[in-house]
Amino acid sequence: MRILIALGGNALISEKAERTYEAQYKVANEAMAKLYDVLQNNEVVLTHGNGPQVGDILLRNEQPVDGIPSMPLHACGSMSQGLISEILIDAYGSLSRNGKQMISVFSRALVSSDDKAFHSPSKPIGRFYPKEEADYLAKKYGWSLKNTSNGTWRRVVPSPMPQKIMEEEAVKKLLDSGFIPISAGGGGTPVVKNGNRIEGVEAVIDKDLASSVLAHGIGCSNLVILTDVEGAYRNYGTHDSERIGKIKVSEVEELYRKGEFGSGSMGPKILASTEFIRGGGKLAVISSLNNAGKAVSGGSGTVIIPG
Ligand code: ADP
Ligand code: MG
Repeated sequence: MRILIALGGNALISEKAERTYEAQYKVANEAMAKLYDVLQNNEVVLTHGNGPQVGDILLRNEQPVDGIPSMPLHACGSMSQGLISEILIDAYGSLSRNGKQMISVFSRALVSSDDKAFHSPSKPIGRFYPKEEADYLAKKYGWSLKNTSNGTWRRVVPSPMPQKIMEEEAVKKLLDSGFIPISAGGGGTPVVKNGNRIEGVEAVIDKDLASSVLAHGIGCSNLVILTDVEGAYRNYGTHDSERIGKIKVSEVEELYRKGEFGSGSMGPKILASTEFIRGGGKLAVISSLNNAGKAVSGGSGTVIIPG
C-alpha cells in the first residue's frame, strides 16, 4: 500500500513539553518504534507539523544580534523542516534494524497569490505581546496582530490553501526506489509564482491540508493523520461526546458544515480527509499515534470512506 502518514505535534513534542533536542529526539524515538513495521511493510511518505519548533525559531529570530539580520517567516519554516528531519532520521536510525532508509525532501507548497487568505490573516504565531509592543511591531514591520483571550496580542499570518507540493515527483521516485521520504514538513514552505521566480511568502500552510494535496499528487490509497486524540468526536468536549468510527465522506461533510470540529485543529484534518477521498483516495484515517499500526488500514480511529 502507498500511504501518507501525517505526524501531529504530539508525535514529536507537545506545546508544554521540554523542547531541548534530546527531549524531542526521545519522543520521536518512541513514535518511530511504533511506526517501524508499518514503514517497512508499505510505501510510506511521512509529513509532520512544526508549530512548537517554528515558534521557538521565531523567538530566537527576534533576539537582536548586532549585524545579523532576522529571517522571514517562510525561511524560519524551512529551518524547522531541516531540524525536524534531523530529529526523525536520528530517531529512526537509532532503531538500527537494517530497514529502509529515511530521507528528507525540502518541500515547498505552491499557493495562489490571489488566495483570499492573504486578505484575512488568521493563524496566530510566535510570542504574546503587551499592547504597546504590538502597536510598535505592527508599525515597524507591517504585521497584523490580534487580541488574544488573555489581553495580550499575537501576530497573525495568512494560511492559504496549498495547491501542490512542488517536490511531489521526487517524492514519488523515492517511494518507487524503496526510501521513506519525509516531505511537506510543517505544511511545506509557502511559495507563489512571481514571473520567472517561485518565491517564499509570509504565510503558513496547514500541515493536514498539505498532506492531503501531496497524498493525492503521488497516488496514495490511504491518508493517515496521527494526533493526540483517538479520532474525531461528535459533541467534542461535552459529557456526551462520542468518537466517530467508520463514516461516509458525505456524512462527515455534513457534520463539518454543522461545525462539529474545531477550526484550526480537528477541522482541517476533516477537510483534508474529505478532499482526499473526493479526489479518489480509498481511506482517510484520523487516529492516535498509539494505534498507528491498526490505523493504517482503518482498524482504529475515525475512518472516512467514499460514499
Ligand atoms: P495536531 O498537532 O496533531 O495537528 P491539533 O491540536 O491541531 O493536533 O488537533 C487535535 C485537537 O483537535 C485535539 O487535541 C482536540 O483538542 C481538538 N478537537 C477539536 N474538535 C474536535 C473534535 N470534534 N473531535 C476531536 N478533537 C477535536
Ligand atoms: Mg494541527
